[in-house]
Amino acid sequence: MVPGVQYAPVIRVSRLPEVEVPVGDIAEADRPAEAGRFAAAATEVATRLRDRAAHATGAASEVLAATATLAQDRAWLGAADKRIAAGAPAVRAVTEAVDQFVELFTQLGGLMAERVTDLRDIRDRVIAELSGLPEPGVPLPDIPSILCAEDLAPADTAGLDPQLVVGLATTLGGPTSHTAIIARQLGIPCVVAVSGLDAVGAGAMVLLDGTAGTLTADPDASEAAAAVAAAQREALAAREWAGPGATADGHTVAILANVQDGAAARAARDTPAEGVGLFRTELCFLNRDTEPTVDEQANIYGEVLEAFAGHKVVVRTLDAGSDKPLKFAGHPEEANPALGVRGIRIAERNPGLLDRQLESVGAAAERTGNRPWVMAPMIATAAEAKSFATKARSFGLTPGVMIEVPAAALLADKILEHVEFLSIGTNDLAQYTMAADRMSADLAALTDPWQPAVLALVGMAARAGAAAGKPVGVCGEAAADPLLAAVLVGLGVTSLSMAPAAIAAVGAKLAQVTLQQCRAAAEAVLDTATAAEAREAALAALA
Ligand code: PEP
Ligand code: MG
Repeated sequence: MVPGVQYAPVIRVSRLPEVEVPVGDIAEADRPAEAGRFAAAATEVATRLRDRAAHATGAASEVLAATATLAQDRAWLGAADKRIAAGAPAVRAVTEAVDQFVELFTQLGGLMAERVTDLRDIRDRVIAELSGLPEPGVPLPDIPSILCAEDLAPADTAGLDPQLVVGLATTLGGPTSHTAIIARQLGIPCVVAVSGLDAVGAGAMVLLDGTAGTLTADPDASEAAAAVAAAQREALAAREWAGPGATADGHTVAILANVQDGAAARAARDTPAEGVGLFRTELCFLNRDTEPTVDEQANIYGEVLEAFAGHKVVVRTLDAGSDKPLKFAGHPEEANPALGVRGIRIAERNPGLLDRQLESVGAAAERTGNRPWVMAPMIATAAEAKSFATKARSFGLTPGVMIEVPAAALLADKILEHVEFLSIGTNDLAQYTMAADRMSADLAALTDPWQPAVLALVGMAARAGAAAGKPVGVCGEAAADPLLAAVLVGLGVTSLSMAPAAIAAVGAKLAQVTLQQCRAAAEAVLDTATAAEAREAALAALA
């Protein structure tokens, strides 16, 4: 998905018409000429793609050049040649050779499987060339239009004019498909994996919402126009927002970045982020077999501290286990790792690992002069919080804990007796509150952070923080949703940490609403019974 909202007529890619695939073989004497015809057609297709690559820029140019290279790939050209030598007419040879490689790529899966579309696209272009038909592809619209297709080959999307093609929607496609990559580069909204798209014909008016990931055919025209205008206003406000985080009436809320290494931290400096609210240290070591030394860890942590010199940085200690196992953490075999020895629970079995990490953070602080806060993941009891806090203080660090387990939210006041701050991980808090695996697409409605039960626990933790006079942030995905961010502020959350890409939109939204509105939204949300009702209530209160 690429965010943005557009309302425009549909155009569709013209596909190769049914070409009769000849059944009989060709005479032996004619085969060299047929091979020559095939070679000329493949070369012509590759040349045209390369020409377009030369006239395009950035990712579009790379995609076109890669497709041109695939058009001249010896493996499939050789397979087609072999068939022609055995008597197959060129059109049949191309079809069969490409089918063979499509099967191979599909079996290999992953990124190779995503190249299947590219290969089929080349096949259609070569067959069109062999058959004297116009090259298949995207028609040039007269007015701004939304391009819909089952899938888009890179050669279709690369080089599109974003003034004329203002949105993309496909039935197939994953997050790494070329469609999404190109849409992001062109800055046009895009939704992939849309069901029912085949039924939407060329010329139909559609409302495409890349933020919500939806496409609505024949919507009410004035409502659609209003949705586009609202999205444009929000995009403009986000572009202009420069921080620091505050509501319209001046209630400050630090807007922070979630990062996973020095490079991400340096990139986050290009946003108005006021600091780092969550440094996921385990992500630095996912491919390591052995524990990094204290010195090595200190260098890595130091990079993040340096990137945000003079600013707040919250380092989370290793959250290993479950979906993020670390080879050197010594995870036991478990039937149910999400409820097993993960996060702070590893320290119980392997206290040296936590000690050495805290020592590394302390060393990084000495080297950089930026003294971070540290927090432990997956805290379930006040005793765990106390033990972590004692350790962290012994290394001269300010301790806090994550609130990701309902038990910790319920007893946040007891936990706050030991630590200086809380940071609510709404991803895991939703998983454990709703007893629904956060990795399961089938259960996404249950793990929705708008679930009122989850928000009630957020409210409890925030109230405990206010009573203790200690900060309570949110660093889960909930903080990246501008509307929900305003609700979190209304619930009493004092900072919001999110993927850097979400910072401008969240900051701009907060700047448009008052604390009073946020509080009213929070109160309304806590009075609902479903995630959908909660969203509606917030929309109404924050309009
Ligand atoms: C969370 O659970 O919300 C969180 C921020 O931690 P992670 O996503 O890394 O588990
Ligand atoms: Mg978590």
